[in-house]
Amino acid sequence: TPTLRLILGDQLNPHHSWYDRVDQQCLYVVAELKQETGYVRHHLQKVAALFLAMEAFARHLAEQGHQVVHLPLDDTTRFADLPELLTHLCALHEVARLEYQLPDEYRLTRQLADLRLPGIEIRGVESEHFLLPRARLNQYFSADHPLKMETFYRRMRRELGILMDEGKPSGGRWNFDARNRHPISDDEARAVPQPCLFANDCRPVLARLRRHGIDTLGHCPEQLIWPVTRLQALQQLQHFCRHLLPRFGQFQDALTETGPHAWTLYHSRLSFALNTKMLHPMEVIRAAVAAHEYHPERVDLAQVEGFVRQILGWREFVRGIYWSRMPGYAKENALGARRPLPGWFWTGHTRMRCLARAIDQSLTHGYAHHIQRLMVTGTFCLLAGIDPDEVDQWYLGIYVDAFQWVELPNTRGMSQYADGGVLATKPYAASANYLNRMGNHCQRCPYDPKQKSGDHACPFNSLYWHFIHRHSDRFARHPRMGMIYRHWFGLAPKQQDAVLERARQCLASLEQL
Ligand code: FAD
Repeated sequence: TPTLRLILGDQLNPHHSWYDRVDQQCLYVVAELKQETGYVRHHLQKVAALFLAMEAFARHLAEQGHQVVHLPLDDTTRFADLPELLTHLCALHEVARLEYQLPDEYRLTRQLADLRLPGIEIRGVESEHFLLPRARLNQYFSADHPLKMETFYRRMRRELGILMDEGKPSGGRWNFDARNRHPISDDEARAVPQPCLFANDCRPVLARLRRHGIDTLGHCPEQLIWPVTRLQALQQLQHFCRHLLPRFGQFQDALTETGPHAWTLYHSRLSFALNTKMLHPMEVIRAAVAAHEYHPERVDLAQVEGFVRQILGWREFVRGIYWSRMPGYAKENALGARRPLPGWFWTGHTRMRCLARAIDQSLTHGYAHHIQRLMVTGTFCLLAGIDPDEVDQWYLGIYVDAFQWVELPNTRGMSQYADGGVLATKPYAASANYLNRMGNHCQRCPYDPKQKSGDHACPFNSLYWHFIHRHSDRFARHPRMGMIYRHWFGLAPKQQDAVLERARQCLASLEQL
């Protein structure tokens, strides 16, 4: 009696135990689905990259001798959704058992858990991707005991023995931030090595998307730069460890517009390969640690620790928050933010230089690095009080690596503080001072980063103080924000009024900024 095994677009893990053995009674299904292209408006490169990677994965399995059907949109559009397609396939192939890997998204998890097919046994299995299996998440995360990222990260380091020496953290410290996170000079920015880009022909996929009227955003060249096979993903990892990891931590928080690689700097761009599971987080961590162990003179401990922290720490941590808080998390709006997202988020047409650059490269590549997401677009939305639903839609659509389990906690939690401080200990609010220190956009921006009031003042400044002012009930007694409030309350009322007036002006004309 045959078994049907469903492989979702972000489950392209060739080392899953499913594939240990070739079984002619087992039929694998990889399907392009309209429901997956339509739950949010995605970047064209994201859909193209996913569809290409799915096709390549199906081909790979078939080459290994597995029974596989790959269904392009042409074959699936007559089905309203995934359950309808599965019902049809199970009947067609006289299937006795349907198996799937547990999805990472709440939406798909519900859809599959609710599926009933008479006479057919349905079973979900572990995806075998994360360092913390789904079944163990509740040992770490519970809805009423929020765990801090640092605590979680140290526990994971200990448990998995990563960067540990006889029970102590390597180098005697858990954190090397003091040696990391520097701004980047123009000369240093011009010396950033080339990123690892591919040239995957995606014309057939683009034609298919056009034929089916799939509504997308952003641009896509005919030669797609993102990795779509495991081999390419491994090449990207190797390129990162060799050329970028040596200065990853050092320039992790830098912003710049100097040099051809300002859009990526020393970031790995591995998130697409990781989130589609072409790469396993442990192999990425081991590759980075090995680069340090074999070449400590080139890759120092601070760089590796900074990188490992992102994958072993943040990536696993936000997933734990997601599963311990869904479905309510997707609706949280602790700061009561209600303004619509300015239209220029979809075009990049704003005079604010940092935002224009971050948005423009997001539309061009489906990518922005963490500091652009957090401290440029994210902080602007936080300060301006943009409705987190709209902010989420933007982040979930625009990035090639965006899947709700990781996008939502980062956006709603970390960047918008809409969860009231579950994920971040304090809001990531910052004025132009931060942007001016960490990058060089201000030098070519018509707004003045030094001014708080007046028509030329950078909107980040007045909006920052407006944010501080309007949320004083919530944050004035926050232990890490006391100094900010002392400064604000110390200003003469006239000065405060001028800043707040400029903020009101900005808020009233967000579309024109
Ligand atoms: P690098 O800087 O090279 O970091 C290495 C890896 O660490 C990343 O590939 C990623 O897997 C992991 N990582 C780093 N920071 C985080 C983090 N905060 N949370 C989870 N993993 C992390 N990441 C996504 O994968 N998908 C998203 O949809 C997403 N949305 C975000 C939205 C906002 C508002 C913010 C502030 C961050 C978001 N992030 C998201 C986290 C982070 O910005 C991206 O993972 C990172 O920019 C991807 O680029 P990279 O691979 O070059 O990362």
